[in-house]
Amino acid sequence: MPLCAICLQREADQTGSHMLSAFIIESTVGERGKEKGYLIDDEPNFDYRNNTGAAPVVEDYLFCRGCEQRMSYIEGYICREYRDKIKTERFAQGFRDIHLPEQQDFIREAKNVDPLVFTLLIATLLFRISLSSSKLFREFELRPDEQEQLRVLINEALPAYENFKVKIKNNKYISELNQKRELFEGLYYIICTYDHLENPTEGYNLAHPEFRLPYNIMLGQIIVFFFFEKPRAGARYLDYFKVLDSHDITAITNAPGDKIKTLIIAEENWKAILERERNKLVEKKVPGLMNKFVADFIRDHNRDPTNDDWLNYVKENFPEE
Ligand SMILES: [Zn+2]
Repeated sequence: MPLCAICLQREADQTGSHMLSAFIIESTVGERGKEKGYLIDDEPNFDYRNNTGAAPVVEDYLFCRGCEQRMSYIEGYICREYRDKIKTERFAQGFRDIHLPEQQDFIREAKNVDPLVFTLLIATLLFRISLSSSKLFREFELRPDEQEQLRVLINEALPAYENFKVKIKNNKYISELNQKRELFEGLYYIICTYDHLENPTEGYNLAHPEFRLPYNIMLGQIIVFFFFEKPRAGARYLDYFKVLDSHDITAITNAPGDKIKTLIIAEENWKAILERERNKLVEKKVPGLMNKFVADFIRDHNRDPTNDDWLNYVKENFPEE
């Protein structure tokens, strides 16, 4: 059995490791352990609406049980203190909204969530999807030196696993973590989500296979831009989701130890991001879809389809709204 990719000491005996972390799995998407990812690849019969071809985003034998529990510990904290509160009215006092000049998007700052734990969780996400051999993230890889930098950070910053459990109290863990601040130097990220969306199950999991400065990742309801160097004002960065260009990058970037700033993207802007992605998907699927459509059409109608039949099919299956 291979060694655990985090501690490099114990055997990687954990099955069903969650590659996407509890943090981004919303209750609407499925119960814990059965969550599915929208699979984006070039299978011809792929239809994202019905989630056909969805793959459970779990993998076996990458981590040891101990490291899996160490990651679950910080996931639990971030789910409770951030994910379950940031969009909930009755927890609004834990957050501060900062409006941006001439923007519908705004920043929501988390007043009570430890930013280093959050950065660490984001680091584990990148690390996990870089290791992942699942079709979803097959093409995404960190550079080996970046992967090792994150591995060291994750291994040294996660809580200890002793006598088959992680038992440190949150407050104690956070104060110990804040003494290891230097491990986080040079890591910056931007995180985006929305406040409200008519259909919150609509979303994609994708990590751009080529963009590195920054890494561009969408995981369901969040978008992350991750930098291994400090972003500079006025520089043009690789921006697959077209978010960065319309913002002052220094205002929305999270530096190590700063209070967590989440860019809350206005609903129509978020929908535009989804729509662009959907259009790319439709384009990419057309050759395979066309074959399937023709076969189905002949079976159902006993005649060859016309061009209008094809356009109707696309319209019905990939509606604009
Ligand atoms: Zn381990």
